[in-house]
Amino acid sequence: MGAPSGTTSRDGGFHLGVFEEIVTHGHEAVHFGHDQASGLRCIVAIHSTALGPSLGGTRFYPYATDDEALTDVLRLSRGMTYKAACAGIMQGGGKAVIIGNPKTHGTDALFEAYGRFVESLSGRYITAEDVGTTVENMHVVATQTSYVTGLPHEDGGSGDPSPATARGVIAAMRAVSQRLWGTDDLRGRRVAIKGIGKVGMSLAERLHDRGAELIVADVNNDATSHAESALGAKVVSVEEIHTTDCDIFAPCALGADLNASSIPQLGCRAIAGSANNQLHTDEDADRIAERGILYAPDYVVNAGGIINIAAEAGGYSTDKAAAMIDRIFDNMTEVFERADRSGANTHQAAEAMAEERIAAANRTNGGTR
Ligand code: NAD
Repeated sequence: MGAPSGTTSRDGGFHLGVFEEIVTHGHEAVHFGHDQASGLRCIVAIHSTALGPSLGGTRFYPYATDDEALTDVLRLSRGMTYKAACAGIMQGGGKAVIIGNPKTHGTDALFEAYGRFVESLSGRYITAEDVGTTVENMHVVATQTSYVTGLPHEDGGSGDPSPATARGVIAAMRAVSQRLWGTDDLRGRRVAIKGIGKVGMSLAERLHDRGAELIVADVNNDATSHAESALGAKVVSVEEIHTTDCDIFAPCALGADLNASSIPQLGCRAIAGSANNQLHTDEDADRIAERGILYAPDYVVNAGGIINIAAEAGGYSTDKAAAMIDRIFDNMTEVFERADRSGANTHQAAEAMAEERIAAANRTNGGTR
């Protein structure tokens, strides 16, 4: 991960060009937090509060340099603005990173200090779990601030977001199916899932219940064995899953699976999966379109988790959350229709949809945010 553009690092410290980076991508604020006693070092980036308080998880990761942490939090917080705007929820985009190893640094004292820091932002940023943090950590954060979501069910929260994310992927796949095959019924569709972890396995179970045919790949043999025996999935290698002849390819492992070398080999008619940042570069959306493959933009597909968290407002219920998540079908349909009207690819159409919604909210706010 590189340094902010046009600047040079000194002793691994922050670049003097931080403002250039923030201005370029339109961030409202970046807050740095530190607690001597617990060793907390964190950054909260608030990209936009145009649609509502910024919402996004806390990533706990042993970043090699402070610049790497800053770059990550700026990129991720911006992504959250687009995800929330496309999901149609009244939340802005924010994200936090805690620098360190969660296994060795993730003490209750650290999460308490972090909770106090989040509280000091007076609700402009609402946190949740992300890579390296858990619902149990958020339970500790909640002892110090009310600006935390994704709490365990016992605390009245929405719990692990993965099943909700999988439900949202199904809604996106139904929209894909409606568009390509004139029906939202997934029965008999061949779906290839790369990565059957928390989201991928829940997705596989839901597809199995709907009568879809499954092909799976994962580096974890226990997961593939389970999918094979419990769901009748065909198991293929992680190197060939994207080449499999299928209706829908669902990347549910890591990012950047759609790139200049994998796209020419794709064997699918459409792509809809939960992984974040599936495109290696923006140009990959054009490469996919040129092959006549329908790409469902990742942050529209995988918004079920954040919608589930947003459903905590005013009291959480699974029925309320499910109804909100199922609207991903409409959001996705709108993206496809926008792409048709504008001639843009679906990735560009989703960005334009988010930017329009944010601009409209900014006008309503009098352009003050
Ligand atoms: P997870 O860690 O539970 O599952 C990931 C799975 O991918 C694991 O089974 C892992 O073994 C497998 N995997 C790793 N490398 C692989 C490779 N090279 N080839 C094939 N399989 C590989 O994570 P998750 O929570 O299920 O999330 C999956 C993806 O969805 C991630 O990109 C995540 O950022 C994204 N996402 C998750 C949520 C959520 O609610 N959990 C929400 C939005 C986006």
